[in-house]
Parts: sequence; structure tokens; C-alpha cells
Amino acid sequence: MKTYELFINGEFIPNGDREMLDVINPATEEVISQVPKATEADVQAAVDAAYEAQKSWGKLPAIQRANYLMELAGLVRENRELFARTNTEEMGKPLAQSMDEAGWLGDYIQYFAAMARHIKGEIIPSDRPNENILLYKMPIGVVAGIMPWNFPLFLIGRKVAPALIAGDTVVLKPSSDSPNGCYEFAKLVAKSSLPKGVINVVTGSGAVVGEALAKNPKVALVSMTGSTAAGKKIMKTAADNVTKVSLELGGKAPVIIMNDCKLDETVEHVYNSRIINTGQACNCAERIYVQEGIADEFIKKTIERFSKTTFGPGLGGTFDMGPMVNKQQQDHVDELVKSAVEQGAQIRLGGHKATVDGKGFFYEPTVITGCTHDMKIMKEEIFGPVLPITTFKTLDEAIELANDCVFGLTSSIYTTDYDTVMRAMNEIHFGETYVNREHFEAFQGFHQGVRQSGLGGDDGEHGLEEFLETHICYIDYDLKAGN
Ligand code: NAD
Repeated sequence: MKTYELFINGEFIPNGDREMLDVINPATEEVISQVPKATEADVQAAVDAAYEAQKSWGKLPAIQRANYLMELAGLVRENRELFARTNTEEMGKPLAQSMDEAGWLGDYIQYFAAMARHIKGEIIPSDRPNENILLYKMPIGVVAGIMPWNFPLFLIGRKVAPALIAGDTVVLKPSSDSPNGCYEFAKLVAKSSLPKGVINVVTGSGAVVGEALAKNPKVALVSMTGSTAAGKKIMKTAADNVTKVSLELGGKAPVIIMNDCKLDETVEHVYNSRIINTGQACNCAERIYVQEGIADEFIKKTIERFSKTTFGPGLGGTFDMGPMVNKQQQDHVDELVKSAVEQGAQIRLGGHKATVDGKGFFYEPTVITGCTHDMKIMKEEIFGPVLPITTFKTLDEAIELANDCVFGLTSSIYTTDYDTVMRAMNEIHFGETYVNREHFEAFQGFHQGVRQSGLGGDDGEHGLEEFLETHICYIDYDLKAGN
């Protein structure tokens, strides 16, 4: 069993008599590692280290910071398999998906390294003679990167890469369900030539360690990805110091399927958008609205497709799905399925917890029909391999149902009609909409939610903006002439 140590100011801090947290493999229910529970003093030490390091890191030319990022990307790529196995072991996803995710980590760091020469300010014409108005883009300072368990490797990239290229330094707090990959990353940081204190890692509960980060006055940005409930708490805590927050929160993605869609492709895209990561993705297809004319055929083909899903331990074979990340998540999915049945829906496939060789927090691939918009399963985030389906008559009705939701992260529509696409683009009120393709964002896009799905966003040039501060200067350049 591995034991990890806090990573502060370039050093691993001996655990001594610190309290430790068990990390469990959700496929086998075995304890695979222990990580330290950081105290408030540990968090302060990590923030202090990041704060001091930022003073010189922020002054380096961005292209020099990019060189460090490229070194890190190289180290991540050399260790791709180690990262993938660590990821699968601690959060359960199939190894092939972990290999993809480990690949994205290196690629994402490289993507932001290439932004070095694209951070630009502005020169704004003044109302006065002999004056320039210069708008600078500056580093924001210390970033607290608070992460969830569903994409633990990729999220390291999302927190670290834009921060570092912007000239910020980082304190990372991974989820207690999946901290190992982040500590393996810290080992590479320690090996690299990155200056001490630029990246720090602390672990522990959200209530203690997360809160301590969000309320620390030296933290300039809390960049958090996780549930809406935790995001709201962070906003309240950060409000005391008016600290900026960037929140990527939960979703309840509607999928609108029109009579004129390409049916087989649609079924395949919906399947991929629900089954990836065992349904534990913020942008997963969470609720289906299918037009009446095609509903029976869509349901039949969808049940056929979902029934072929294989699941098992991610390190024990080639499967479509692994387990749910933990027992609470498995219970949560099961409760939502039961609530749908109690409210009158029909389970057409699956609908039960499962084990493999008597172990693990698995859940059967599940298709539920006869759902209505008012059911709990159509309103709350499921975050599991469960597809609830309802029908509609007109596009107006579908758009209204889709928009009637506290979440506003991703959405999608399947149709071959140009007018329908354009109406949907203009009337679906979500941060992202996918047309005739599966749910998955690109590095160069902008991943963001409206309503209670978040504030701010990640990826691309707009995502980088979150990590920058604007400084505007008014320069009168005609002083010698006495004006
Ligand atoms: P979570 O909210 O339970 O935890 C996320 C992180 O926040 C963890 O590190 C946790 O310790 C920390 N945290 C919890 N309470 C805190 C507090 N009071 N103060 C400070 N930090 C606190 O989420 P999770 O269960 O790990 O992840 C699943 C959720 O994440 C889902 O809702 C999913 O939709 C969301 N998610 C969103 C995106 C996105 O980009 N919008 C991406 C991935 C996951």
C-alpha cells in the first residue's frame, strides 16, 4: 500500500503523527493508499509558499514559463501508463479511458504552453491629447485548484496549465476519493526544474482543507470543479475576502431528438454520452426528450445498444464501464432509479446495483421510459449509467422542457433540419450545445455553465482570462512641455 505526503514548497513533508485518509479501489473495495489530512497550518504553509514563489514566477517572460510547462508535459507523457493505472485503481474507470485521460493531461499542458505569446493587453485611445491608456493582462496571483474525482488527471491540467502560463502559482486540492494521481504528478514536479512553491499539493476534506483555501486572503482565485452544493459553499466562504471564484459545477444535460434525426448515429452518440466514465461526467447525457414519431424505434435501439455494455474492474480486462466511484455514489444512483419507479416510470433495462466477484460499487446500464418532466430523475444530476427518457410533440415544447432546469451546463440536439438547428442554437439556454455529436468539449473551446452550473469557465483563450487580472494605466506623456 502506498503512503503519500503533502507537497509544499518543493518538498514532501513527512507525515509524522498526521491523521491519514484511506483511499479505496471502488472495483475491489481494497484500501490502496493513505494520504495525509492537511491541517489549517499546512494549508497556510502551502499558500505562503505559492505566494512567495509567485513574486518571481510572475515576472518571468511567459515563454520561459512555457518551457517549464513543456518539461512537465514531457514528464507526464513518459509516465502515461503509471498515471493511467493509478487513475483506474483509485476511481475505477476502464484502463483505456484512463490512458486517454493521462494523454489529455500532457496535451493540455502543451496547449497552454503554446499560449505564451498570445497573452495580450490593449492600447485604448484617450479622450485627452497626449495620453495613452494601456490595459495590461497580469497574473492574478495564487490560485487554489479544488478538484473532483471524476477526471482527476485531466483536471490537474485544467487547474495548473492556464495558471502557470498566466504567471500564477497553485495550491492543488484533489478529491479525497482520487488524490493519488495528483501526488504522482507532484513527484514529477519535484523531479522537474520548476521553481519551488509554484505547484503545491494538499489533501483532506472539503470542509477543512477546501474551506481553508477558500477563506485564505492570500488566495486570489478559487478555481473549483465539483458539485453545485460545494460551489455555493465556496462562494460564501470566498465572499469574506471578495476573492474571485471560477466554478465548474453540476449539469443535467438535456438531449433533444427530432423525428428527422439520423437514428442509428443518434443512438450511438447518446450511448457514448451516457456510458463514458460510467456516466460520471458533468457533460453526460442526463435526460432524453425524443419526438413522438421516432420514440418507439429510438427506445428499442437504445435498449439494444445499452444491453451490450460490459462492466468490470478497470484493471481486470477490457470493459465499457468500471464501478461507480464509491458507495455513496452507487446509493445515490439507486435511490434516483427507485424514485422514478415510485413516480410511475418503467425500467426497461438494468436498474440494480451490481458486483463483480462479490465486490465493487457497480451499477447496471439502465434505461428508463415513461418518465415525465416533473420526476426527480429528470431534475437531479444522476451521475451514473442511467438514461431516463420522455417524449414530446413540438420543438417549442422540447426547448421549454430543456430550459426549465436549475442547471445549464451542456445540452444537445439531433436533427437534419437546418431551421431546427438554428432555432435551437438561439433558444436553448445552456453554456454548451452539441449538434449531432456526442457530448465532449475541446481544449480550444470554452467549457462553462449558466444558472447553477457555474460561474466563469475553462479552456481556450476565454478560459485563460479567468487566471489573469486586468490592470489599466493612464499615461500622460507630454509632461516636459508643461501641459
Ligand atoms: P464535490 O463538490 O463533492 O467535491 C469537489 C471538490 O470540492 C473536492 O475536492 C471537495 O473536497 C471540495 N469541497 C467540497 N466541499 C467544499 C467546501 N465546503 N469548501 C471547499 N471545497 C469543498 O464534487 P465531486 O463529487 O468530487 O464531483 C462530482 C461533481 O462535480 C458533479 O456534480 C459534477 O457535475 C461536477 N463536475 C463538474 C464539471 C464541470 O466542468 N462543470 C466537471 C467535472 C465534475
